[in-house]
Amino acid sequence: MRVPRKPTISPSKMTTYLACPTKYMWTYIDSRGKWYLRSKSYYSFGTSLHSVLQRFHDSGDKGVTTTAEAVAALEESWVQAGYESQEQMMQALGEGKEIVEKYVEESLAAPVTAKTLFVEKMFRRDLGSFVLIGRVDRIDEREGGDIDIVDYKSGRSGVNEDDLRNDLAMSAYQLILQEHFPGRKIWATIIALRADSRASVSFSTEELEQFKQDMMALAIEILDRDWENHVPVAKSLCSKCDFLPLCNKHPEFHLDSE
Ligand code: SF4
Repeated sequence: MRVPRKPTISPSKMTTYLACPTKYMWTYIDSRGKWYLRSKSYYSFGTSLHSVLQRFHDSGDKGVTTTAEAVAALEESWVQAGYESQEQMMQALGEGKEIVEKYVEESLAAPVTAKTLFVEKMFRRDLGSFVLIGRVDRIDEREGGDIDIVDYKSGRSGVNEDDLRNDLAMSAYQLILQEHFPGRKIWATIIALRADSRASVSFSTEELEQFKQDMMALAIEILDRDWENHVPVAKSLCSKCDFLPLCNKHPEFHLDSE
């Protein structure tokens, strides 16, 4: 007899649910939602940059080792979807080239203090009634053996330690990696590419345990929710939401009730 697979929860799922439970339903439960999703230029921009940095840090990929190769790789992997005009897209491409050029130039000039272990890798941690999963941009091993989870952000104008402490995904990654690297200190680092700034934090065991309890309560709330009888409730983000036409079809949904 086949054992049923445990449900999975990811930082993206939890973040979507916290923003709007109905959005979670259209994204992950009710398949009608996918017909309403529109491409977003900021996702395309982020995906394009990520793909170049992934290749730059991947020791098995020798195609992106210089600034010129990084710029060529960006042109090659550029995602065009979601831009309002050709002009807007070309402006974003120009900005993207400047970002990868600067990033690669500075990385090549900096002293080597860490070894990259993984790029773009999915990790999982079984937490009993569900499995916590997360795709990590990069994992480095610092000199001395500490583990560093590195996440690139392409839209932020800066980053500080508080941002990291309040970032659900970075906390979840630390929790997942704690099991994969027992006894090692785990750091979480965000690199704000546009601002060329970075910040790192490492949660204490107590902080991570508290996060685990809070996160498990949230995950169980999501998984146990009665989605069959869910009634959409208007939010401040409705006017810009792709799913508004779907929510509008529900007789109990009123946009002006928010
Ligand atoms: S339209 Fe509003 S209620 Fe419906 S999914 Fe979007 S944000 Fe949520």
